[in-house]
Amino acid sequence: MHYLRRACFPLVVLLTLPLHEGHGQELLRQRAPRFVLHLFSKYEHVIMRTIDYLASTAWIHDHAFTKRLVDGISNGVIRFINGEILDLEESRQLIAGIADAGYAIAVGTCPCRRARNKISDTVPNNTDMVFGRWAEEYLDNYPGLYTRISREEALGLVESFDSHGFIHQIYGFPLRERASYVLCNCDRDVCIPMQAHRKRGYAAFRKGRSLAAVDAGACLGTDECGRCIERCPFGARVAVAGKAVVVGDDCYGCGLCVTTCRGKATRLERKLGAQLIFARDLVD
Ligand code: SF4
Ligand code: SF4
Repeated sequence: MHYLRRACFPLVVLLTLPLHEGHGQELLRQRAPRFVLHLFSKYEHVIMRTIDYLASTAWIHDHAFTKRLVDGISNGVIRFINGEILDLEESRQLIAGIADAGYAIAVGTCPCRRARNKISDTVPNNTDMVFGRWAEEYLDNYPGLYTRISREEALGLVESFDSHGFIHQIYGFPLRERASYVLCNCDRDVCIPMQAHRKRGYAAFRKGRSLAAVDAGACLGTDECGRCIERCPFGARVAVAGKAVVVGDDCYGCGLCVTTCRGKATRLERKLGAQLIFARDLVD
């Protein structure tokens, strides 16, 4: 591990070098050198495929040595690229803030879908929403796959992704807070970080800053409805005495149970002192 850390050090230095974005107020703080953005955007699906293989191959995790090695590599990658959960309103604010500051927004096919060859006929595939210089790189690398979109188109899309039960996650660079690169809108059955999280407990993304809370009186009952239980990607909604309750420790604050609640019985409550890391400058 010592040698691995030493080998990674020059990369850390390169990634933290300041490079000005060209906007008066630098809101996205995407300071990685251009060649890093270029390589990451071009080969992201290969990186995702590798993570998928490492997280889902049983023999690797059955042997102490290979498990330790893969866990070390995975945790190293997570130190460079990490996500945090946003709810729909936060995602809307983020998009509006980015568009209003004059940054490019583009959307293209989810790299996890590409990596796993899971292109769907029934749900949207183009859910990867990229910003600023990161967007320009994807538009250059994948002209057929990524499209430049307007503020209003982006706002419409994020709402539609929410209605499909896709989880909004802003990904950034943990060594430099406030650096937002991409808003993933994740299908829980396709998302590779989600699978790695479920299968191996890798902390590829952080919880959002809110928790779901339910007004039991307004809940229509799990026999009559139960939509929130089906919708929650983290298994944090369960039936107790015919009503749907929240298991607080398991809740990631994604808000999908709020936007789907038929009885308008569910709301999000902000956790005391909780702050966003990557989207802090863009969301109230
Ligand atoms: S979606 Fe709302 S109304 Fe339906 S079971 Fe859940 S809390 Fe109750
Ligand atoms: S209970 Fe589940 S669906 Fe609702 S906010 Fe928490 S994690 Fe999201």
